[in-house]
Amino acid sequence: MTSPASDGQFNMGYLCTGKQCEAGNADKIAMRFITPSLERHDYSFRDLDNLSNRFANVLKGLGFSKGDAFFTFLPKAPAQFIAFLGALKHEVTIGTLFSNFGEEAILDRLGDAGAQGVITKKSFVKKIAAVRSQMPRLRYIIVVDSDEHLADDILSYDRLMADASAEFNTPVTTAETPAILHYTSGSTGKPKGVVHLHRALASHAATAAGVLGLNGDDIYWCTADQGWVTGTSYGILGPWSLGVTQIQFAGSYNPESWFKILDEEAVTVWYTAPTALRMLMREEPGFYSRFVLKSLRHIFSVGEPLNPEVIAWARRTFDRDIYDTWFQTETGAIMISNRPGLDIRPGAMGKPVDGIEAAILTDEGNPVADTQPGNLCVKAGWPSMFATYINNAAAYASKFRDGFYFSGDTAYRDEDGYFWFLGRTDDVINTAGHLISPFEIESTLLEIEEVAEAGVVGVPDEILFEKVVAFVTLHKQYTYSQELELKIRLYVTHKLSSVATPHDVVFLPEIPKNKSGKIMRRVLKATYLGADVGDISTLEV
Ligand code: ATP
Ligand code: MG
Repeated sequence: MTSPASDGQFNMGYLCTGKQCEAGNADKIAMRFITPSLERHDYSFRDLDNLSNRFANVLKGLGFSKGDAFFTFLPKAPAQFIAFLGALKHEVTIGTLFSNFGEEAILDRLGDAGAQGVITKKSFVKKIAAVRSQMPRLRYIIVVDSDEHLADDILSYDRLMADASAEFNTPVTTAETPAILHYTSGSTGKPKGVVHLHRALASHAATAAGVLGLNGDDIYWCTADQGWVTGTSYGILGPWSLGVTQIQFAGSYNPESWFKILDEEAVTVWYTAPTALRMLMREEPGFYSRFVLKSLRHIFSVGEPLNPEVIAWARRTFDRDIYDTWFQTETGAIMISNRPGLDIRPGAMGKPVDGIEAAILTDEGNPVADTQPGNLCVKAGWPSMFATYINNAAAYASKFRDGFYFSGDTAYRDEDGYFWFLGRTDDVINTAGHLISPFEIESTLLEIEEVAEAGVVGVPDEILFEKVVAFVTLHKQYTYSQELELKIRLYVTHKLSSVATPHDVVFLPEIPKNKSGKIMRRVLKATYLGADVGDISTLEV
């Protein structure tokens, strides 16, 4: 295993490529890139090293220097990984955008960051062009699908790469050098630009080994898009810093393709999200009997609370556990998790990972007794702790008190040290003097045979302060009926309590989710109240 800090060299780009070649992995497959039609393209660590060297030289040749911001704006494509690693090698701060962002979302990020360059594809150029006059610092757009340069400042990736040398001397990069700029998912408001430093790789590597259990023999697949933090921390950096072979699938969600990949590529460790797992639960159980999954050791989940019913389904359907992991854009790496070797308590996120101290604190920073709800906090100072919110030092400062980072989530710890997620602090429902977890009600609703997905919010109420409103989608074969609505409400009453019972059950064809699969509760709430839904740039379209 590579130590990220060997020789005082903290450069993430180098540690994931050149260092891997020196460690004997040059000919090993680093990335098996699989197209939507399931064609394979393999890249060895040597290929990644040479190509990212070329890209570092491209940026250098275009006059980029340390600390400048550069973004990828691509669907999953080999160039995205190469540009990411190449920028890091040249100490250019790299950001990643979801490929379906529109003009406003682009401006909110590229403009906010003062980006000087972006790599994209031809058909996206017009979206950037529409807001370019408001981004005076943007110097270059590089396109991956043109053989020729299109203008003085719209350049061909292939041409630039062909003219660039594959030799690049990565500067000795300090731990404190800015590396990555990630905008949060924007679940609660405008996305915030989170800055991570090269030192963060120590956390990515430690958790990829210690939580995901990765070692050099693994075939690992993280389904996350590189537009959000899971796609970089665990879809690029952690695994490659350990010399692990990664699958990257360019197709979208498709149960048939996904399970073929798991089976035929002999995936050993699979990292995905609750929303994908809940969608997979919609398939007939017979669908899964065709797949053997004999190599699959572990399944991990992140991004949203993992409902106990999903864990039960995986045990029933393919005899595997799913391990929940909790982290945020701001924490950069997994902080709390279930993991092999630790008994899973379905519904709990698990325990803090090695080297992390988590605590439940009051707003004033005092400890909260076990089993009681409070702010989920992490003792400051871990390597992948964010360094700032770009252009918003005040918001950054407001997240820390007495040496603890306040995550904005509400949780409790049980007597055995397991942490239980209750909701985002703003989402926890306060009804008739009781604090109610939207996650707990959603998990209960998923136990009902007819219910496929559920989102629960609290809305203002004159008498109760807030009342519980549930939004549900049904499995294909079911339709709304008054009896079903009654059944749903009674089920929650019996299973949880009468205070948790939804006052209203709204049946929807889809639950609104953002691009990383998170239920957008603020959109549900605003729609219910007929209010403005606010920034929805990350909403799935
Ligand atoms: P914004 O900060 O802009 O509102 P966001 O918080 O959705 O966006 P992310 O940093 O991608 O952006 O998401 C982190 C949040 O996702 C956590 O704070 C938590 O609310 C939720 N989350 C992540 N993993 C888990 C998990 N395992 N269990 C419960 N919630 C989770
Ligand atoms: Mg957040």
